[in-house]
Amino acid sequence: RMSLPKITTGSKNLDNLLGGGVEVKTITEFFGEFGSGKTQLCHQLAVNVQLPLEKGGLSRKAVYIDTEGTFRWERIEAMARGLGLDPDKTMENIFYVRAVNSDHQMAVVEELKELIPKEDIGLVVVDSVTGHFRAEYPGRENLAVRQQKLNRHLHQLMSLAELFDVAVVVTNQVMARPDVFYGDPTTAIGGHVLYHAPGVRVQLKKSRGNRRIARIVDAPHLPESEAVFAITEVGIRD
Ligand code: ADP
Ligand code: MG
Repeated sequence: RMSLPKITTGSKNLDNLLGGGVEVKTITEFFGEFGSGKTQLCHQLAVNVQLPLEKGGLSRKAVYIDTEGTFRWERIEAMARGLGLDPDKTMENIFYVRAVNSDHQMAVVEELKELIPKEDIGLVVVDSVTGHFRAEYPGRENLAVRQQKLNRHLHQLMSLAELFDVAVVVTNQVMARPDVFYGDPTTAIGGHVLYHAPGVRVQLKKSRGNRRIARIVDAPHLPESEAVFAITEVGIRD
């Protein structure tokens, strides 16, 4: 695993926790409650993938699949400036798609088989991977079909990761407290989004002010420690 190329998160602490950064050929899931930093991390990685190797990037482009409408070009601009990158060029190298429902989300990923090699994509972001599936197949009564569809989607993403050596980053919003009322394992902390897919799962938690705490869940090859990082005006930092 050590030899796989990785994308820096912008935080040394978080990179160390991840064994160097976000890895290609792998699905990395960031999960946590609202405001825990999932979307900001996705923005930062879409910028950082474009950095040269010696600066922690892959010199490649990004695809950003936004299911919640929370993507902001202004944040990309600020993050690019923060790294001394040309903001316009950085934005040009991000292929943004707003996925309107789960079928669209899956169709978009299907089409990436052509876009990824053509445009030299190194990172595919899906923020969030679960939102549409939860909205369309709500509650415990739809759990089986929702998980089945979600698993199909994750297999799509995993084959992209493996076929094209790309990093896949997905987010999953979970409740601050386990969802005891609905008994739905996909919304609870430690939910089962990547249950059947290989990958790295990272729990994000709010701390004081702009501080956030990351913790790796269920990864025997990575340490069970925590990392503290910050969300700043120019992006993710220590
Ligand atoms: P999630 O996607 O997990 O719900 P976000 O990634 O959207 O959370 O994180 C939101 C947080 O990011 C905000 O609460 C704020 O602290 C921080 N943030 C967003 N934009 C900026 C900015 N321009 N400057 C500094 N911090 C920001
Ligand atoms: Mg978000």
